[in-house]
Amino acid sequence: MNPYRKDFPILDAAVKGRPLVYLDNAATMQMPKQVMEAMMNQQSCFHSNVHRGIHSLSELSTRRMEEAREHIAGFIGAESASEIIFTSGTTAGINMAARSFIDTFLQPGEEIISTQMEHHSNYLPWRETSPEKQGVFLSCPIDRNGDLDMDAFSSLLSPRTLIVAVTYVSNVTGAVNPVKEIIKKAHIAGAAVLLDCAQAMRHEKIDVRDLDCDFCVFSGHKIGGPTGTGILYGKSEMLELMKPVLYGGGTVREVTDRVTAYEDVPYRFEAGTPNITGIIGLDAAVSYLENTGIENISETEKELLSLTEEILAASDRVNILGKPKERAGAISFTVDGLGSFDVAKLLDTQGIAVRSGHHCAMPLHQAYGIDGSVRISPAFYNTPEEIGQFETTMKRILGMQCTMHN
Ligand code: PMP
Repeated sequence: MNPYRKDFPILDAAVKGRPLVYLDNAATMQMPKQVMEAMMNQQSCFHSNVHRGIHSLSELSTRRMEEAREHIAGFIGAESASEIIFTSGTTAGINMAARSFIDTFLQPGEEIISTQMEHHSNYLPWRETSPEKQGVFLSCPIDRNGDLDMDAFSSLLSPRTLIVAVTYVSNVTGAVNPVKEIIKKAHIAGAAVLLDCAQAMRHEKIDVRDLDCDFCVFSGHKIGGPTGTGILYGKSEMLELMKPVLYGGGTVREVTDRVTAYEDVPYRFEAGTPNITGIIGLDAAVSYLENTGIENISETEKELLSLTEEILAASDRVNILGKPKERAGAISFTVDGLGSFDVAKLLDTQGIAVRSGHHCAMPLHQAYGIDGSVRISPAFYNTPEEIGQFETTMKRILGMQCTMHN
């Protein structure tokens, strides 16, 4: 029996009269009851605003939020809690980093390198913002296997490169990028690196100091925390120089009719009332990951993913996207003669939840000459039996498709 399932009440749910088989964890991981309880406790016992009141509840809120910051800083190996900015998710974190970094540092003609395998959230913020300062946006291609073309990457790097924005793990093919090598090469060229760790957090032990990335971004809901939470980590020496993006309460030390004196980092980047309940939940999700062990999670998910890959590879009407050197978390495919939405809808009739479409990664799908795919992304609470149910239903779908085509 999988020891983790008891922590996830939703796994007992039924969909279309069948037990839920939830294989859409790259979109959102389910929430363990420990996280729900932490948020319930916050709401029941100390719900109040932070920083602004000197009353006891507010002091407790402030303390708990700052403890969460310390905890998350430790979890990702940051040097100091002041390098941790609370955001509403990966998309918000990358947008904030891109906006502030470009406004602060970009000089006309300087270049930003993103990649063909990025989620739109690590592509568009750079591509749409850089022209405002006459910056140049470049996209590093992938090879047929779905790995980043490292020769192309090396030749794109130049003294003009200001920053490289790259994902650790692809949300479509599950390709794991050689991020240490990327960071080393970028730094030699004098460029900074932002790592999109949205998919990587459950699979890799992230140590930002060991990786030496300049920014690292992730979402709470992909690690069992609530939606609307996330982290932007930035090296202190970077954040200290960077301009705020959102203006308002909580970001300033003093405002006169002429002068604004900003707070220290990270507060100057956290305008307005933060998602306090969410942050308490995110903190509890990090504790859950720590208690479960990233190695255990990663190992279980890799086994389930290999099993899925074997099942898919057994059919000659199924085309798996890429064969990367290392795959984590997700695998995507197309079926000859059937659209990705049709496959996902048919799986749903049996209670099997998967993602279909372009997964917010259109440039990657364009590289394969397709407009969408079906994605399977098991989590550590899934079981080989559930993958077996997926196999049985896929066989039926493929059988139907054969009949339809004969
Ligand atoms: N980057 C990657 C690699 C992702 O997988 C996702 C979510 N699918 C995002 C960014 C965006 O995350 P969010 O929607 O939580 O902002």
